[in-house]
Amino acid sequence: MFETVIGLEVHVQLNTKTKLFCACPTSFAEHQNTNTCPTCLALPGALPVVNQEAAIKAMRFGYAINADVNHTSIFDRKSYFYPDSPSAYQITQLTKAIVQNGELFIDLADGTQKRIGMTQAHLEADAGKNIHEADYSKVDLNRAGTPLLEIVSQPDMRSSDEAVAYLKKLHATVRYLDISDANMQEGSFRCDVNVSIRPKGQEAFGTRVEIKNINSFKFVAAAIAYEVQRQTEAYEDGVYEQEVRQETRLYNVEEGVTKSMRGKEEAADYRYFPDPDLRPLVVTEEMIAQAKKMPELPDAKVKRYVEELGVKLADAHVITSDKEMATYFEAMLACGAAPKTAVTWLTSELLGRLNKAGFSIETTPVDAKTLGTLVSKISDGTISGSGAKEILDFMMENESRDIDALIEKMGLAQVSDDGAILAIIDTILAANPEKVEQYKSGKDKLFGFFVGETMKASKGSANPAKVNELLKQRLG
Ligand code: ADP
Ligand code: MG
Ligand code: ZN
Repeated sequence: MFETVIGLEVHVQLNTKTKLFCACPTSFAEHQNTNTCPTCLALPGALPVVNQEAAIKAMRFGYAINADVNHTSIFDRKSYFYPDSPSAYQITQLTKAIVQNGELFIDLADGTQKRIGMTQAHLEADAGKNIHEADYSKVDLNRAGTPLLEIVSQPDMRSSDEAVAYLKKLHATVRYLDISDANMQEGSFRCDVNVSIRPKGQEAFGTRVEIKNINSFKFVAAAIAYEVQRQTEAYEDGVYEQEVRQETRLYNVEEGVTKSMRGKEEAADYRYFPDPDLRPLVVTEEMIAQAKKMPELPDAKVKRYVEELGVKLADAHVITSDKEMATYFEAMLACGAAPKTAVTWLTSELLGRLNKAGFSIETTPVDAKTLGTLVSKISDGTISGSGAKEILDFMMENESRDIDALIEKMGLAQVSDDGAILAIIDTILAANPEKVEQYKSGKDKLFGFFVGETMKASKGSANPAKVNELLKQRLG
């Protein structure tokens, strides 16, 4: 029996206005090589200056994961030659990163949490892009020098489920902190997966392979599954030493396999040394104060939703897994929606309709204020749940967001007025004297009949709770 060991390295592109060591904008939409200057083109004599906004965002992440935020950290040069890196080195942080020794609590399927140790998070500059045409290649340096935060975990995960849970929690965390867009498709959240196996009970780790740049949670799980199987078979066939080497592999999406890309470089291969152009990064009190401005994070939200709002744990996890969803939920509450009703209307009624129509919570045609108002009308008895569904269906297709006008126009106002409902009840009871007798002599089941008849007579507009209450009164 084998145990899987996984450690993750995630590159998060920080959403700063300018690059890490120069004043060029970080937007890539412009024409190729226009967001460049002597510094990010690595022209001789140009000197780098650290972007404070990037440092503050890295520090904020550090505080969020309960880490040591170093008041002095060092930038190192990592040497390698590649056309999209004109300096032939990358500026990164090797031994003294700005953030070290943190922890992240991941959420497992059974509702429990597991602590994952965080080795460090360091600042580094991204490379440019090589664009390959049929018989030539181009280099675009608009991205060169963009700030990345490389976040390195301890090898603390023991299954692909845990690895995916880690990535989801990390993704949510950087989104809540508003330090990155963390868009996997666009490459602002890229992850490298380190995988090894070891016989159960053995303390020493096995040889790890690193699978580079996987761009979806689904592929992370698939790549791990493939790699675990490959390594296990090699072990069982007695060829572990030959087949499993410390190397970098790529996951091939079409074939569903990992393939060797290159042998793993040792640190010495990169000839790391402190960058002589950059003084140590010393953080100021002002930067610390800025970095400590912390929004409410997913774990705190879950706790508050469960303990103060009475939301079920599983629902609290669904809502807080995504910053937009939590914001939407809280905006609904601000409009007077009751928490439990808001949960149902957000997670099943709205999300169901969004999925069907190809929208997401970011592109929803029905905003939180509107849905919150609609839901508050159920809570206060103005409309029934089914009436609200009709209005929501209508709004998915139409522009109008005036809830009161829609209730009126669609004739969905519930009658909650005692007098009006009693008048209907009395007619029903008068028309069914035998049934009233039978009920009074113990045939309890007939209660449902009276409710049904009253609702029918009101054409569904009577408030069912009221109907129940008043019928009980009348029938004694
Ligand atoms: P490098 O910088 O050369 O990639 P590190 O020692 O920084 O190497 O480790 C990188 C990642 O590999 C970390 O996330 C770490 O948790 C993970 N890792 C280290 N050893 C193992 C192992 N035996 N199995 C799985 N993951 C590992
Ligand atoms: Mg690495
Ligand atoms: Zn520049």
